[in-house]
Amino acid sequence: MAFTADQVENLAHNQTCGHLHLFTCPNRGDGEHRDAYGDTGALVATVRGWICPFCDYTQDWAHHGMLAGKVPNPFPLPGLSHQRSK
Ligand SMILES: [Zn+2]
Repeated sequence: MAFTADQVENLAHNQTCGHLHLFTCPNRGDGEHRDAYGDTGALVATVRGWICPFCDYTQDWAHHGMLAGKVPNPFPLPGLSHQRSK
């Protein structure tokens, strides 16, 4: 396995929290990559590594800080962050 369950949870949080640069597929410009998971060709964290929803691309590394924990938002916007649809 490329990542542990805890690491996948952290990666998914950090990938979708909106204040970090997203990992995206290098093939995202081919016209077949759509806007999903926060950006065009954004990668999805799994225990087998990052996967691209739109092609065969995978990636088995991530920045240490993203793996280690949920990175706090340096610019919290009251009323905008932590919104949950009911
Ligand atoms: Zn792709």
